[in-house]
Amino acid sequence: MLRFIMAMCCVFGMIGPAAADEVFQFPQDPDEAEFIANEVIATFYHEIGHGLIDVLQIPVLGKEEDAADTLSVILMHDIWKEDSAAAILVSDALTYALRAGDLSIAPDPSVYADEHSLDIQRYFAVVCLFYGANPDMRRQLAVDLGLPDDKLESCPDAYLNARWSWDAMLAGTEPTQDTFGLVMAEGQEGMPLADLLAEEVASINQQFGLPEEITVTVADCGEANAFYTSDDKTITMCNEYAQDLQHLWQSQ
Ligand SMILES: [Zn+2]
Repeated sequence: MLRFIMAMCCVFGMIGPAAADEVFQFPQDPDEAEFIANEVIATFYHEIGHGLIDVLQIPVLGKEEDAADTLSVILMHDIWKEDSAAAILVSDALTYALRAGDLSIAPDPSVYADEHSLDIQRYFAVVCLFYGANPDMRRQLAVDLGLPDDKLESCPDAYLNARWSWDAMLAGTEPTQDTFGLVMAEGQEGMPLADLLAEEVASINQQFGLPEEITVTVADCGEANAFYTSDDKTITMCNEYAQDLQHLWQSQ
């Protein structure tokens, strides 16, 4: 039962300021736009993790937030070719690094009680799993991102464990004419964030058939966030979340 109470899971432990009052438009700067798009995709994959755990009634042994982060990396690895997958991972890691801020300054104690792991822990976790999925190809990337030597040794096993676990839970979910999938909310065509997500929805639906629909929507939320809600089986990606990523990029 606790799983259902906790099923609204956001991407942040700390919620950023609300700012959206219009449809989000990607910035002109290509690097800035790519960072935002990549991190929206990584976060969307994380929310899909919550959705799959809910509709497939997957047991969660440990933090559900960590499980969702793990699925996000697995989907990056599975769906994208190497250069694009690496770019998404780097954007995801950069987001955690920027949110972690100055590690010499003790964070507010409340972050230790949050359902999410600390941002710096999430940073090393996603880098480790991504590296572990293809260590021959990604060792330099992992070194460049500061993964410690002893961690480099253990990441391939960490990935295999994560891979085996998610594969076991997703076995038998191949799409058929009797299954459902992700569905974009109506009336959002032409919105840049929605169009970006629609491509991901099509890709995910080729992989998974679900016992019920999960709706995907872009909305003004009043907070910079992204979340899955089990009562209406909906993934909501907030315009404010994309705006917050833009501010994060500009804060470097
Ligand atoms: Zn979450």
